[in-house]
Parts: sequence; C-alpha cells; structure tokens
Amino acid sequence: MAKDYYESLGVPRTATDDEIKKAYRKLAVKYHPDKNPGDKKAEEKFKEISRAYEVLSDSKKRAQYDQFGPELFEHGGASGAPGGGAGGFSGGAGGFGGFSDPRDLFSQIFGNAGGDGSFSFEDILGGTGRRRSARGRSGARTGQDLRSEIEIDFEDAVFGADKRLRIQRSGACTHCGGTGCEPGSSMKSCPTCGGQGQVISGNGFFQSAAPCPACGGAGRIPSNPCRTCGGQGKVPVTRDLQIHIPPGVNNGSRLRVAKEGEAGARGGAPGDLYVVIRIRPHDVFQREDQNVICDLPVDPVTAALGGIVDVPTVTGRTRMKIPAGTSDGTTLRIRGKGMPSLKGGARGDQLVRIRVETPVGLNARQKELLTELAGTFTGANLPKRTDFQKRAARFLK
Ligand SMILES: [Zn+2]
Ligand SMILES: [Zn+2]
Repeated sequence: MAKDYYESLGVPRTATDDEIKKAYRKLAVKYHPDKNPGDKKAEEKFKEISRAYEVLSDSKKRAQYDQFGPELFEHGGASGAPGGGAGGFSGGAGGFGGFSDPRDLFSQIFGNAGGDGSFSFEDILGGTGRRRSARGRSGARTGQDLRSEIEIDFEDAVFGADKRLRIQRSGACTHCGGTGCEPGSSMKSCPTCGGQGQVISGNGFFQSAAPCPACGGAGRIPSNPCRTCGGQGKVPVTRDLQIHIPPGVNNGSRLRVAKEGEAGARGGAPGDLYVVIRIRPHDVFQREDQNVICDLPVDPVTAALGGIVDVPTVTGRTRMKIPAGTSDGTTLRIRGKGMPSLKGGARGDQLVRIRVETPVGLNARQKELLTELAGTFTGANLPKRTDFQKRAARFLK
C-alpha cells in the first residue's frame, strides 16, 4: 500500500505550501543518501518523501491527490522481493509514474548539488549563502527513468518466464565517452550565458532566471563538439533486453531494470527502466490476490447426489469431490493450487465456484423422467423454496 503523502511528510492535510516545503527540507536533509551512504532504509525514506513533496507542492497534483489518494500516482504497487540480475523488483519506492529523480528534485528546490549527484551539506546547513548552478560545474546529470510495458500470459505469471523486450533509448556516445567533446578537446565557457548557466529575461523588477538553453545550465560547452553525437554526449540505441519475470507477478507489477533508462548528460549515470507487467486474461482462470478462481459448470444430478469431478488447476488436472446437495454459487477450495508468492510465502488456493447448469434441449423421455421426479419433491427437498413461499404468503395475505 502506498503511504499517505501527508503522513510521509508529517504535516496535516491543511498544511500550507510553505509548511510542506519546510517539512520536506528537514526530512530530505536527514535522509539524503549522501548523508546515509549504503543505508537502504534511508534511501527508501528519501524517495518516499520526495514523491510526497513532488505531488503536494504542485497545487493541481495536490488537488488530485486529495481526491484520489496515492494510488493515482503510484501505478502498480507490487511490493518488492529482492530480485536478481537485470530484473530486480522495485520496492514500493521505485521512482516511476512521472516522478523526478529525488536527488534532482532536492537540488532543484534548494539550488545546490554537484551535478554528478554529489551533494554538499555544508552548503545548506552551514548557510554560506553560496549557491552553485543547479546542475553543477561539470554539468553531469543522471538520465531520466524510462517506462515500458510487457504483456505476458497467465501461465508466465504462475511459473515465471524470461522474456525479450526491445526498447529504444539514448546511450552514452562511445566516441566521446558521453562528454560531448571530440577526443583531445575540452570544455569551454558557454558564450550564451557567459558561463553562468542561466539566462535572465525581463527587465527592472520583473526579471526571471532560466537554465541556459545552450549549455543546459552547466555553464560550459564542448570547445570542439564530438563528431558522432554533435556534442550531445548521447546517441539513440536499440536494446534487446532479457527480462526475468518472477513467479507470482501481478497485473501492474513493476520490474526495475537498473541503468537501462535514458543516458545521463555529460558523463552522468543512466536512469533506470521500469517495466510494467500486463497479464493477458485467461480462458479458464481469474486471479484474486494469491488465489486463482475458476467457474465450474456442474449438472444438477451431480450437484444433488454429489460426486467426483475433473477440475483444471494452474498446475494441471485434478479431481475434486462435490458434496451431495451442493447449491449453485457454492465455492469449494483446493488448497495450495493458487498463485505462488512473490515474497516466498505460502502459495494461494484455487477457488472453484460451482455453477449448477440447468439442462436444455430435453427429449420426451428426459422430460417424462423430470416430471415424474418433480412430482415426488417434498418441502424438505427444497428448503429455500419452501421458506420463500412461507415469507411470500405472509406478505401477500
Ligand atoms: Zn550557457
Ligand atoms: Zn560523442
């Protein structure tokens, strides 16, 4: 379950923008990954508060959040089993769904970060008043996360599978190593912004600063742009990925594939790829949490007398006992024949919903037998009908 964003930031639902910003800043400084190296919990917390802030600081998103809650923003919601290899399962805190990189968000707001993701607390906590370019002197910047979808069969969700997924993304230019500089050349001060990384527009009181379009805010550009990438440092690439689908995935589960997002700028690390799982509907089975549901039509004689019937399960055919006097709509449970658990817990069950089928297309002999049978019914044979008739008679009298 996605956590309530107000709760994450520790503010009331009536908090002002300023209170939200202050709360975020306080928590972000505390949980910033650079201050807690290797601490996974702090990193998750940092992501959580960043997502909360990103939504609540935007009046439009905040209004949507107030109406619909976190589910609107946190698509999917598979919670994480540690995954191996390329298909690590993202925990509740993957950053997809239009969320910014939490480090970028932090530096955008507090105007302070080495663009390579390094981050100096003295700048914020020490109050030196020194504000560097939002993207740092090197201009290095982590690439954007990418989102893709993969459609799998119900069986793949049960047993797991390895699937190929082709994606298009940007990759670091190999000719210049992602720097954008033709080998042997170096960076120079950006003539558009004079090395400031920002351009000022307007005049008098109404000036505003925007990142320089020529250098992307870095303040520096290649003196001799790379011949291959034109100085961008990245080139389009097609990637054929092997995606490992773990058994038990659900519709909407997200898999995180590290470093298969867009290339970073000027030598920055690539973003991550988030693959959303779509499961094709199955002819026989439906899923409900860890359980697999199957509707089983049964003839009225078997339903009345009881018997043994064949039932399909996700792992193959099995036989199930139907008790005498089983009504339509009765659900019978076959233990341990449901979905495997992503987290390594117990397997779910299969729930068999009995659908008593009324025979159609009867011949004369069958009609004769049924008519004869109907003549023998007593009130005790059909307790529901008997009870209903009593209640109806009371109402109608
Ligand atoms: Zn510039
Ligand atoms: Zn290049």
